[in-house]
Amino acid sequence: MKTAAAPPTRQDGAVPDREALHAIQKKIQACIQCGTCTASCPNEFAMDLTPRRLWRMVLMGETDAIFTSQTFTLCSACYSCTLRCPRGLPLTEAMHDLKQMAFRGHMSRYKPSTAFYGHFMNTIRRHGRIRETEFISRYFLTMTPSKPMLPLSYTGLGFKLFRKGKMAIEYPFAAPGKRSLEKIFQKVESMEASA
Ligand code: SF4
Ligand code: SF4
Repeated sequence: MKTAAAPPTRQDGAVPDREALHAIQKKIQACIQCGTCTASCPNEFAMDLTPRRLWRMVLMGETDAIFTSQTFTLCSACYSCTLRCPRGLPLTEAMHDLKQMAFRGHMSRYKPSTAFYGHFMNTIRRHGRIRETEFISRYFLTMTPSKPMLPLSYTGLGFKLFRKGKMAIEYPFAAPGKRSLEKIFQKVESMEASA
């Protein structure tokens, strides 16, 4: 059985209280702890709490255990668990809700994930596609004040990607092009704000 990696901490004062979990608890309250979600998840090997255990923690209102875990940040929204859950629960959506809570709370332990997702989506918003050089440059700019050696740790991977043609050499801070998705993103934001 897997265990959470580290004891809970409230050092950034942003761990949500139990009440904040009510909406997610309602979504998954019919969980029977069968473990099908865990068995279906392609990322389970890297998670500190299995999906089944995470849902148990949510139902019990264990916010410290939930927001110490990296499990929901590793969900790649593949929908396997949602499709296979025998109770038909919206598990991918619930994972997304947990991400939103952590990110909106500016919890320091999730800063790398927040910065990664944020710059990935902003690059798509500006250009209508992923521009790897811009995305990774902006991510490094956000992260290097606290982790100055981070870009060096990616050097080997960067060379491999360039060699295999998986990463183009582009000016990292180009202006948004004709394919910008700005209007679509704005529309979604206004719909979310009024929901
Ligand atoms: S597959 Fe559904 S019912 Fe089974 S443990 Fe996961 S969430 Fe619960
Ligand atoms: S949607 Fe997320 S939690 Fe569910 S199986 Fe895919 S990666 Fe795992």
